[in-house]
Amino acid sequence: MMKPVILSVDDDPEVLRAIERDLRERYRDDYRIMKAASGHDALDAARELKQRGTPIAMFLVDQRMPGMTGVEVLREGRKLHPDARKVLLTAYADTEAAIASINDIGLDHYLMKPWAPPAERLYPVLDDLLSEWTARARMPFEGIRLAGARWSRQCYLTREFLSRNQVPYQWIDLEQDDSMRELVSTLAGGVTRLPVVLFPDGSHLVEPENLALAAKVGLSTQATRPFYDVVIIGGGPAGLANAVYAASEGLRALLVEQNAPGGQAGTSSRIENYLGFPSGITGADLAQRATTQARRLGAEILTAREVTGIRREDPYRIVRFADGSEVSSFAVLISTGMAVRMLDKPGIEPLVGAGVYYGAAMSEAALYRGKDICVIGGANSAGQGALFFARYARRVIVLVRAGGIEKSMSHYLVEQLKATENIEVLANAEVSSAHGTDHLEKIVVQNVETGTMSDLAVSAMFIFIGVSPRSEMFAGLVERTSTGFVLTGPDLPRTHGKPARWTLEREPFLFETNVPGIFAAGDVRAGANRRVAAAVGDGSAAIYTIHRYLETV
Ligand SMILES: Cc1cc2nc3c(=O)[nH]c(=O)nc-3n(C[C@H](O)[C@H](O)[C@H](O)COP(=O)(O)OP(=O)(O)OC[C@H]3O[C@@H](n4cnc5c(N)ncnc54)[C@H](O)[C@@H]3O)c2cc1C
Repeated sequence: MMKPVILSVDDDPEVLRAIERDLRERYRDDYRIMKAASGHDALDAARELKQRGTPIAMFLVDQRMPGMTGVEVLREGRKLHPDARKVLLTAYADTEAAIASINDIGLDHYLMKPWAPPAERLYPVLDDLLSEWTARARMPFEGIRLAGARWSRQCYLTREFLSRNQVPYQWIDLEQDDSMRELVSTLAGGVTRLPVVLFPDGSHLVEPENLALAAKVGLSTQATRPFYDVVIIGGGPAGLANAVYAASEGLRALLVEQNAPGGQAGTSSRIENYLGFPSGITGADLAQRATTQARRLGAEILTAREVTGIRREDPYRIVRFADGSEVSSFAVLISTGMAVRMLDKPGIEPLVGAGVYYGAAMSEAALYRGKDICVIGGANSAGQGALFFARYARRVIVLVRAGGIEKSMSHYLVEQLKATENIEVLANAEVSSAHGTDHLEKIVVQNVETGTMSDLAVSAMFIFIGVSPRSEMFAGLVERTSTGFVLTGPDLPRTHGKPARWTLEREPFLFETNVPGIFAAGDVRAGANRRVAAAVGDGSAAIYTIHRYLETV
């Protein structure tokens, strides 16, 4: 448990030793007693403590010091530790300065030197001040702190990345915390490069890329071997299921995920139709369980690593990462799933992360407690999103272009939406534009039947307008449909009885693309049934054909 600090400051070593001795005598069990021999040293220590998240409960500072007076030290010190009690050590001649600073810097007490006997002249005063501090102080958070601006897109992306990877953190809004703003300005040279991530070991990262952040918080980002039996691209249900079976059957398996394991399913607030979970399971929980299972069985999982292409060098398949590095294997599984489609309307793009979100940005829900928000879309994912946000928001308006949600949403969700008092469905409605200065304030909605426009004041808009396959990085290598789905096995179009560029005597296996040894499973595969169970089934079944392929190389 982190102890708060009492920091005493005096340039006279004898006085400093005496005050330290007396403080230790009474407070060492509950406080860390620190000392500094000058004002500058004291402020350096105060800054470092702030960076580590350790609070200062009290400054005890001598008034007469060269370089900086005690009052000056306290004035600067309170910018970093505003709750700390401030005590000035004075000689008789300094009482005037002390009295003046009571109002000036909110001095709590001035203590005349010498203070002997401490039991009478020191401890009663400090006991009172420290108990006041204890009553008011927020206990320090001992994990990662993320300091930034509420409406910054980069801050939102970092919050989302940490929460989706289930890394606990404390969010600090710099608008609301002057002392953190002071610290961040020093660390990042201002408050434009945000967020600043502060770690308990005292280190920090300014506006970090996901990869650097992942490495720092202890997620695996580097492959431990140069070669694998199978590299799985994408850590949604299909990829995770494949990793579980590959590892359990003794294959050297590497799963590469660009964001967080779980994929689309990981963003679902509650999956109610996946076998074996009668009361449903959150996507985050399912992702966590599957990741733990795959790792326990021996699969390696890399996070925050984007794959940009695959090269064929028979018999090897070489997977290339965004930073240009590569890893080799005999077989590759493409399980890159689908990405949420963008809504291309005026005003939307600049507000992404500042009230406009694609999918269920669950890390943001608490920001909209008591507010009016809207959900765009009429499919199951939109329904789940609406139910989730209804727990926080005052009112959730679901906008659908169709005449209702009955045709596009599962019956159980339609019933739940109807039964939730603060959800309403606005049918025949389409977003025409979004407005707000630094964050979303309203949208303009068009009635698709009458053409009439109306304003809707909302603080947030969560967009679920469908998804499209992520396969552009494999274009030119594997056969895809015109809409980007990867074709496999019997679905591959043939000329003269053979798939394009297929050179082997045998037919492509199930789940195998037109490049031998490269397989596809889950939502990205043409003809897949886009459900969690179907993706898990695809990923699990594909391992059988991967085994058959491995017997041939
Ligand atoms: C909000 C929401 C709720 C849903 N609810 C349900 C439900 O209740 N029941 C149900 O059955 N289905 C539900 N679905 C559908 C279900 O989640 C998907 O069918 C399923 O997740 C598909 O799994 P997948 O592994 O094929 O792909 P995805 O889940 O899309 O995973 C693909 C993964 O690949 C990664 N990736 C992509 N490109 C790269 C790259 N270049 N390099 C590295 N990694 C990459 C992505 O980051 C992603 O993590 C829901 C979907 C959404 C969006």
